Amino acid sequence: MKEADYKELKKGGMMRQAEAGLFSVRLHVVGGRLGTRQLEAIREAADRFGRGEVHLTSRQGVEIPNVPQGSLAELKEFLAPSGVGVGVCGPTVRTVTACQGCRVCPSGAIDSPALAAAVDREFYGKPVPHKFKVGISGCVNNCIKAEENDAGIKGWIEPRWSGEDCTECGICEAVCPTKAISRPGKGMQPVIDRELCIGCGDCIVACPAGTLREEVRGFRLFAGGKFGRVPFLGKRILGVLKTEAETVAAVAAVLEFFRLHGKPRERFGDTLKRTGFEALEAHVLGKEARP
Ligand code: SF4
Ligand code: SF4
Ligand code: SF4
Repeated sequence: MKEADYKELKKGGMMRQAEAGLFSVRLHVVGGRLGTRQLEAIREAADRFGRGEVHLTSRQGVEIPNVPQGSLAELKEFLAPSGVGVGVCGPTVRTVTACQGCRVCPSGAIDSPALAAAVDREFYGKPVPHKFKVGISGCVNNCIKAEENDAGIKGWIEPRWSGEDCTECGICEAVCPTKAISRPGKGMQPVIDRELCIGCGDCIVACPAGTLREEVRGFRLFAGGKFGRVPFLGKRILGVLKTEAETVAAVAAVLEFFRLHGKPRERFGDTLKRTGFEALEAHVLGKEARP
């Protein structure tokens, strides 16, 4: 088989193994969620076409290793009726990862699996200058490590001091994990530093008088993160996005920026180091402004 043919197979999620003639087949598992029917189909496929085992990847995916080259097409056909597709590799938008989100996890601020499905539906497999990963954490506990993704999203709760019934007890200041709240003096309202605030909402929960309230509960976007050989933590851009639709539109604008400014085989974080994060923000905001 020619090198070019191997590359083509890899793009379609079929990775050549160290052992000649065998492939590890990557499956498309959005946000790490699989139904029992799909699990059953994967089990049977691994028995029929592989050696009865699967590999759980670091990005919540499933791979079936040890599949002979001659069985690849048949394996794909076998899985299709259960709704399990084959993954992608190469310079494309990869399968979106996500935590359980607010429908399952009591800490969750957003429905991460729902957003993962929406983002994946729009952008999965689309071409970009280099691989592009999206990861979604339902809250700032950040189980999915948003900053390690080219586009990471976190559920975010921003507080507002309403002024009503404040007893000046100082609890908000004491509980804030980043020292984002300070009280300038007696009779003065607490100041919230938005740059330091990590959107945990702890001050709102702790305020005994109910003076601190939710200003907004939404989605915070981080851009340019990556792991691998030269890790780089993504930086937060824009304000808190209020809706899922707004967030999907922001990711679309981010991808467009990458296509316009990225060089082949350049990770998004490196593109941003060249262009500056401000240029990305201006591009995304410019998109919002247009009708
Ligand atoms: S990131 Fe937050 S919502 Fe998601 S699983 Fe972790 S604690 Fe729960
Ligand atoms: S915790 Fe609530 S009541 Fe106490 S100082 Fe802060 S805002 Fe005021
Ligand atoms: S939301 Fe969290 S980080 Fe922000 S001010 Fe309140 S306690 Fe501090």
